[in-house]
Order: sequence, then structure tokens, then C-alpha cells
Amino acid sequence: MQVPAPFDYERATSVDHAIGLLERLGSGSRLVAGGHSLLPMMKLRLANLEYLIDINDLHDELGYITVEPTRIRIGAMARHRELLESDDLAAHFPIVRDAERVIADPIVRNRGTLGGSLCQADPSEDLSAVCTTLAAECVIRSSSGERVVTMDEFHRGPYETAVADDEMLVEVRLPIRPGGSSAYEKVERRAGDWAVVSAGAAVWLDGGVISDARVGLAAVGPNTTGIAAVSQALRGQVPSEEAYASAGAIAAQSCRPTADGRGSVEYKRHLADELTRRALRRAVARATGEES
Ligand SMILES: Cc1cc2nc3c(=O)[nH]c(=O)nc-3n(C[C@H](O)[C@H](O)[C@H](O)COP(=O)(O)OP(=O)(O)OC[C@H]3O[C@@H](n4cnc5c(N)ncnc54)[C@H](O)[C@@H]3O)c2cc1C
Repeated sequence: MQVPAPFDYERATSVDHAIGLLERLGSGSRLVAGGHSLLPMMKLRLANLEYLIDINDLHDELGYITVEPTRIRIGAMARHRELLESDDLAAHFPIVRDAERVIADPIVRNRGTLGGSLCQADPSEDLSAVCTTLAAECVIRSSSGERVVTMDEFHRGPYETAVADDEMLVEVRLPIRPGGSSAYEKVERRAGDWAVVSAGAAVWLDGGVISDARVGLAAVGPNTTGIAAVSQALRGQVPSEEAYASAGAIAAQSCRPTADGRGSVEYKRHLADELTRRALRRAVARATGEES
């Protein structure tokens, strides 16, 4: 039986209360949201903490999905199930529903949160790849105020983020840009498993030409990674199999997979190539109304 080391437990009643507890209890304390990443690490004694600060009562404050003219704001406590079921998100960013359909199982999705997913900073985290693809912004709060960082700035390495010990991720912002759509493709060993490799794509079209494109990969580097060279290669191109193939080749060359039980480096590069093509093809089909 796996049992965590002893710890104390506090239940936060507001964001300010949670931040106050983080400040008072120091680096031996940690927030727990859905607990689906942190608790397994504690049971394996990979994380040994003095205090857990439970933020589940903050769902009323941080569980929102709010559509504004130029962005969708999502509270850090929005759960996977809520992201999966949001028609607003599916209409603006179909990549979110694509990804949520293949994240874990209903038990994990009922509890796991957007904030926990990004803050875990697992290189295989699907929502991190989605947020990277969509150029999300992360709002981090402390007792001295809020700061906003890009996804590139947010992840600093595997399991490491820009959120300091006395700070909290409170919101993720997805910019809405007209004329585009998005898609997510994942290969997993069995249903609900972590990705062997996954790829997200977002594409914007203007007069039948790709005005901008973004690709984000998971499980092929120290963090989920946006491939800037793909964006450069696709801008100004007419959508075509040749354009997708060149983007796939760039993705395969640019990523940094390691061999493990899920596959060899060669296999993962092959998947990065193929899944990039598929995600781009589907994002374009959605942007042109050929696919919903
Ligand atoms: C069986 C299983 C299968 C899974 N499969 C997948 C999968 O296929 N794809 C996938 O992407 N994920 C998968 N997951 C992970 C799942 O998505 C988790 O829900 C997610 O990783 C963490 O969210 P959480 O709310 O549970 O975070 P927690 O475990 O509560 O927290 C994770 C970390 O984030 C910190 N944290 C949480 N919220 C905040 C905040 N607001 N501000 C600052 N720090 C915060 C915590 O202190 C902790 O360090 C799986 C998990 C399990 C158990």
C-alpha cells in the first residue's frame, strides 16, 4: 500500500485566504486542486509536504468560463469535465474538446483542473499543449497583485513553473482571433493513457491563404513546446498536403523526444510528423467549414 508521509491540512475559503496560507506556511506547503497529480506523487513519496492547502472550495470563485469579445477567460479551478462540456469553448476552440475527450477517464476529469494541469508542468500534459497551441496567457496572483505570463514563460522545465511558492495561478486567457480553427491529435497506448505523442494545431485563413498557424507538441521535450519554425513555414501558404508535410517534417526535426517504455526516439519523431499533419488538416477543414 502506498501511503503519503504525514502532513497537515488546511482548507482555503477564498483566493486571498489561500495566498495568505501559502505566505504563512512557506515552501513546505502546496495547493491541492483535483489532487490527481499531487496525491499520487505524495503516495510515491516523490513529494513530501508539511501542509496541503485544499482549494476545492474556491470553485465558485475560480470555476468560470467567461466569453469576452477578444478572449475567453477560464478560472484555474475549472475542471476537465467543465472544459469538455463547454459549448462556448467548443465553438471558439474545438481543440479543447478534442483534447478533453482523450484525457484520462471520467473519474479524473470530474476532479482534475485546468490550473492543476498547467502547474503540474508534466511534459505530457494535454492541456498544456492546448494552451501552448492557442498562445494562452496565465494570470498569477500574489498578495502584491497580479502578473500575466505567456505559456513560454510559464513552463520553466519539467515540473517547474513561473509560479512562486507564495503565488497562485488564478486564470488562463485564450485569445479569440477571427478566421481560424483548431484541432488536437493524440496517440496513446490505451484509452485514457498519457500521450506517447500529441499535437495541437491552430490555423487562421485569409482569402484562402494561411495568415498564421501554431503547432504545440506534448511528450517530446522537457515541456510542451510551440514550434515557431512551423508557423514561419506555413504563413502565406495555400493549405495543401505539401504544406502539411513540410510542417510535419519541421515538427519532427524540432522536437526533443527521449526513448522510454512508450516508444523509441524514431517512433516519437514519426508521430510528431504525422500528428502535426493530421491536426493541421483538421484545423483547416474546420476553419473552411468542411468539418465541424
Ligand atoms: C489515471 C490518470 C490518468 C491521467 N491521464 C492524463 C492524460 O491522459 N492527459 C493529461 O493531460 N493528464 C492526465 N492526468 C492528469 C490529470 O489531468 C490531472 O487532473 C492534472 O494533471 C492535475 O490537475 P489537478 O487539479 O488534479 O492538480 P493537483 O494534483 O491538485 O495539483 C498538481 C500541481 O499543481 C499545483 N496547483 C494546482 N492548482 C494550482 C493553482 N491554481 N495555482 C498554483 N498551483 C496549483 C499543485 O500544488 C500541484 O503541485 C491523469 C491523471 C491520472 C490520475
